[in-house]
Amino acid sequence: MKNVDAVNCLACGSDQVEKFLRLPEVPVFCNVLWESADKAQAAPRGDLDLGICSECGHVFNLGFDPELVRYAEGYENSLHHSPRFQQYAEELAADLRNRHDLKGAHVVEIACGQGDFLKLMCVDEGCTGSGFDPSFRGEQIAENIAIHGEYFGVRPLAQAADLVCCRHALEHIDTPVPFMESVRKALPADTNATLFFEMPNSLYSLRDGGVWDFIYEHVSYFCGTSLKACFEKAGLGVSRTWETFDGQFLCIEASANGKTSGAPDISAVPPAAELTELARGLSRQVGDLLAHWKTEFARVRAAGGQVAIWGTGSKGVTFLNLMGEDADLCVPVDINPEKRGLHVAGTGHRVAGPMDLPEANIQLVLVMNPVYAGEIAGMVRDLGITAEVVGV
Ligand SMILES: [Zn+2]
Repeated sequence: MKNVDAVNCLACGSDQVEKFLRLPEVPVFCNVLWESADKAQAAPRGDLDLGICSECGHVFNLGFDPELVRYAEGYENSLHHSPRFQQYAEELAADLRNRHDLKGAHVVEIACGQGDFLKLMCVDEGCTGSGFDPSFRGEQIAENIAIHGEYFGVRPLAQAADLVCCRHALEHIDTPVPFMESVRKALPADTNATLFFEMPNSLYSLRDGGVWDFIYEHVSYFCGTSLKACFEKAGLGVSRTWETFDGQFLCIEASANGKTSGAPDISAVPPAAELTELARGLSRQVGDLLAHWKTEFARVRAAGGQVAIWGTGSKGVTFLNLMGEDADLCVPVDINPEKRGLHVAGTGHRVAGPMDLPEANIQLVLVMNPVYAGEIAGMVRDLGITAEVVGV
């Protein structure tokens, strides 16, 4: 049953890796929008060639070419425009602050973006923060926070970290174990720092039908088991993994010095053999879903209508690309005003704002992330649109 080239699992190092899903020629950057349809259609593409490790359940793209990936200017993946996500980030920061005494502490964030989350982390008395991100646009965001427009680890930390956090970055890194080793090495030898990392949860994609989450920019799709294996291989002391955001995200806490107190509290993960079975079913599932929406689109097309694709994050962009020529009646919509008028990588669709929808003949609204369905249904009604609002 094995279908492999000689390749080792990125998380645990096992050579028991099976390929299960191939999506050729998808845009390399789902989150980069383009100023013209021509440029969007000429955007770089790469192959998704997904494999799963039968030892730890780790899923990763065997076809990943790091040379294709450059985090370019124009990268806009901030989710902070959504009230739902903003509320989640606030609750997550409050939980971390409650469980770790951050009064007078120094918090470091790797890949901090524009520092939104770091700001939420550094509100306790005397708490200071350092953020690292090459995409930082260079304004000081708070007196107690310094953000450096460079990669973490380029130079030694000026101040010892008590807590190091990193959200939605590890899945982009093609060598996660060496990366975690480098994080460890960037801290002092006698560090007592806690590491907190968050990323998409592969179980959500494998088990809960989040098939649009497979995108080129993500090399790795971690489950609790493979994430723990990756951290332990890098010499870190895992204390806990848990799911958040309705199971879509996976979190881990570990000690940078490798010490543990007692057995780790690991979120429930099915055995790797079961995950492998789920993975094998995904290829058929993707085909079935596309066939279903092609039928629905034909109905809308016959009535002269259009389909709003709500959300032009990675899910929306992948969906539009996989729908091929059938996507011509789609109107991608995003509440992020910076995306309005720009074009979707691969297909070239122009992104509309919600206010543009009443002038289109929208007969179906597809919500790319079901977590936001309630929020979006409310906005659609407020626009006076009576079309059905459904999750993909
Ligand atoms: Zn593995």
